[in-house]
Amino acid sequence: MITPRAAACAETLPDDALPAYVHDVAALADHARTVRAALPADVELYYATKANPDAAVLRALAPHVDGYEVSSGGELRHVRRVVPGRPRLAFGGPGKTPQELRLALAEGTHRLHVESERELRLLGTTATDVLLRVNLPVRDGSLGGAALAMGGRPGPFGLDPAAAERCMTLLRTSPVRLRGIHAHLASGLDAPAQLAVAEQVAAWAAARLPAGELNLGGGMAVDYRHPEARFGWTAYGAGLRRLARQYPSFTLRVEPGRALTAYCGWYVTDVLDLKRSYGEAFAVVRGGTHHLRTPVTKGHDQPFTVLPRGLRPQLTDEPVTVVGQLCTPKDVLAARVRVERLAVGDRVAFAMAGAYAWNISHHDFLMHPRPTFHVVGAPAAG
Ligand SMILES: *Cc1c(COP(=O)(O)O)cnc(C)c1O
Repeated sequence: MITPRAAACAETLPDDALPAYVHDVAALADHARTVRAALPADVELYYATKANPDAAVLRALAPHVDGYEVSSGGELRHVRRVVPGRPRLAFGGPGKTPQELRLALAEGTHRLHVESERELRLLGTTATDVLLRVNLPVRDGSLGGAALAMGGRPGPFGLDPAAAERCMTLLRTSPVRLRGIHAHLASGLDAPAQLAVAEQVAAWAAARLPAGELNLGGGMAVDYRHPEARFGWTAYGAGLRRLARQYPSFTLRVEPGRALTAYCGWYVTDVLDLKRSYGEAFAVVRGGTHHLRTPVTKGHDQPFTVLPRGLRPQLTDEPVTVVGQLCTPKDVLAARVRVERLAVGDRVAFAMAGAYAWNISHHDFLMHPRPTFHVVGAPAAG
C-alpha cells in the first residue's frame, strides 16, 4: 500500500515537516505506462488536471499522455506554466467566462468543450475547434454503479439531446469547427459499465456525424476499499479496440483523472493522542480532513499504513477510529479500522491520496499549518 520510496521519505521526514504529502512520480509513471499500454495505440489519453494539478505530477505524466483536460482558466494557465513543450489542452467545464474563452484561444487550446448554447454564441465567428459536450440518456442501469452521475438525467453539464441538435444546426453554417462529441456522464464506473456507456455515446454520435472525435470522458472507478485493485484497463482497452473497429471514421479519446493519480500520493502524519471513549479507541492525528477531504466526500475509510517508531504500543490488534484536529465530528479519516499496533508518535501514511485530496480540501478551516510537499522517484537532475 506504500512504495518503499514513499515509506522511506515518510519515515525520515523531520517531525516539523508533518503533515506531509508525498508523491511517488516513478510509481505514477509506471502506472501511466501500464494504462497507456492497455489502450489501443490510436486511442488518445488525456489527463483530467483537476484530479491533481501538482506540478511534479503533471510533468511525470507528460511522456505518457496525449494532452491535458483543464476545467478552468486557472488550470489552463497552470498547465501552460508548469508543463514544458506546450502539450495539447482540452478545455471543458460549465460556466466558462468570456475572459476564459479568450484565454483559451490566446493559449492555443486544442479543443474547446462547448457546454451550452450560450458558450457557442460567445465564440461567435471565431474559427476554433470544438467538441459538443452532450448529456445523453443512457439505457436504464448503465450508470447504476456510478459514484457520481453527471449525465443521463437533468443537470448543468453539457447539452441535452435537443440542445445538442440545435448547436449542430448552428455549427453547419458557423466558422466554429465542430470536431466531434464529448461525453463524461459518470464517475466511478468499472470497465464493463464504461464500455456500455461508450457504445451508446458512439452510436448517438455516429448517427449524426459522418466522422470526427469522440471524447469518452473519465470516471474510471477507483476502489478505496481495495487499495491493490485497479480499474480493468485491459478489458477496457479491448472494448475500445472493438468500438474503434465499429466506428473507423472516429478518433477515440479518454480523459481519466482519479484512476491515473489516486495511487501515487500519500498523506503522512503522526499520532498526537490516543484515547478511549465509551470503550472505543480513537487516534487523533496531526492535520485531518481539511488536508485530505476525500474520505468524507466519498464516504470511505482512507486506507493507511502505520509506520511504527519503536514506541511501546498502546493499542494492539484492535479497531481504532482515526480523526484529525478539527472541532467537528465529520473530521474522520477512517472509522473502526483494525490496527496491529499503534502508539502516540507513530507515523501514519494514508494511501490513495494522489487524487481529489489536497486540492479539494478546505485548507484554512481552523487555521492549522499547511502540510509540506515532497516528491520521490523523480529522475536525477542533469
Ligand atoms: C472530472 C472530470 C474528468 C475526470 O474524472 P475522473 O473521475 O477523475 O476520472 C474527466 N472529464 C471531465 C469533463 C471531468 O469533469
